[in-house]
Amino acid sequence: MDNQTINPFVNALKKLKESINYLDIDDKYYDILSKPEAVLEKDIKIEMDDGTKKIFPGYRVQFNSTRGPYKGGIRFHQEVDLDEVKTLAFLMSIKCAVANIPMGGGKGGIQVNPKELSKIEVEKISRAWVQAFFDKIGPEKDIPAPDVNTNPQIMTWMVDEYSKIAGEKSPAAFTGKPIEEGGSAGREFSTSQGGHYVLTELAKKLKLIPNQSKVVVQGFGNAGFHMARILHQDGYKIIGVADSRGGVVSRDDSLNPNHLIREKKNNGKLEGVYCLGDECFKVEHDHIENKDLLELETDILVPAALGNQITEENAGRIKAKIIIELANGPITPEADKILYEKGIIVIPDILANAGGVIVSYFEWLQNLKNEKWSEEEVLKKLSDIMIKEFDNVWTIAQDKKVDLRTAAYILAIGRIVEAIKSKK
Ligand code: NAD
Repeated sequence: MDNQTINPFVNALKKLKESINYLDIDDKYYDILSKPEAVLEKDIKIEMDDGTKKIFPGYRVQFNSTRGPYKGGIRFHQEVDLDEVKTLAFLMSIKCAVANIPMGGGKGGIQVNPKELSKIEVEKISRAWVQAFFDKIGPEKDIPAPDVNTNPQIMTWMVDEYSKIAGEKSPAAFTGKPIEEGGSAGREFSTSQGGHYVLTELAKKLKLIPNQSKVVVQGFGNAGFHMARILHQDGYKIIGVADSRGGVVSRDDSLNPNHLIREKKNNGKLEGVYCLGDECFKVEHDHIENKDLLELETDILVPAALGNQITEENAGRIKAKIIIELANGPITPEADKILYEKGIIVIPDILANAGGVIVSYFEWLQNLKNEKWSEEEVLKKLSDIMIKEFDNVWTIAQDKKVDLRTAAYILAIGRIVEAIKSKK
């Protein structure tokens, strides 16, 4: 099956249905949990640098607010469409419930390739998105954050636009801001740090020793780079990494993510000469195509790029023992089954990458209370949540004899249903 034929929303609902069957609850909850509360579509119109006018499709989907205000990122990508945004918004509802934070799920995006825009044009589409959805978002209603191709700078423009329209400074309207604009310590690497906390718990259960374990990372942006960096620091051997232009595989088990990121910044790609400080040197690493990277002999595979990377076409060839999903939805349901049958443990996105939304929640709380927490404080609170919820998910998986994804869904659905019942 190629990526074009996968409707991610249909897949997400299948998973919801399957997981609900493990809970003794009324069918009406499937109807409630499978329908977004609001689907918002607007044209994002801007004037380009050459004076022409362009329109890009813009989206915000507000999935479920039973447990709190909608929370979820904004993605700028040429493949963004309504089904993708709906799926990601649904996953945010589930993820916030797995993390047990008082937030609901939302997601937004613009169908645009930001790499084809100038910096001024990116600022214009960012501000135009806020103008389009201003009435529907806000610190008490819906708090967006960065996602693929959006970053702290874009959040700064968005907060500024929101504050201008609102007529008051509103830092709590968006999270993922730079620290000096009200961002939280630790937010930049919180997704990967959260992933590292759960991987460490799993490693203890499996008696996996970091400096004897190989890791492959797909995607070398915020999530992928920081995960590679943290795992490298912890002694894991990073043997392959790739971004959208391809990647490198190590011949001597010793890629250093800090060198690679410097190289990527200098050359735009992950190959060739590596520099540390002023010192540059040539290393013997082989170029590898993305699809081959996924199939490398490794202990741990970290998909940290886009969705639908492991499908029924390539799942049978995956050799990793553990897959930790930092990307959202990198494994299709068909592939999930194949991996489970092969005995590969998948730490699902709704748990593995929840660190990002958890620290976003901390940022929002700090903004509302006018507080500044230290990095140590943020990471302690993050680690407490990740370890506790990993344990809850693990226990459900053992009790019900299901994979960790199904267990995480069972945990989340149970919590959302409890919240619905308690509101009546
Ligand atoms: P990013 O834009 O910083 O990085 C994305 C990376 O993926 C880039 O290195 C890009 O080159 C690479 N990439 C794109 N297409 C690729 C392909 N076909 N093969 C290999 N690499 C490819 O984005 P990010 O914030 O790191 O997000 C990555 C994934 O993690 C997304 O699925 C996102 O939804 C998920 N995620 C991120 C966060 C976060 O806090 N950053 C939180 C939760 C989930």
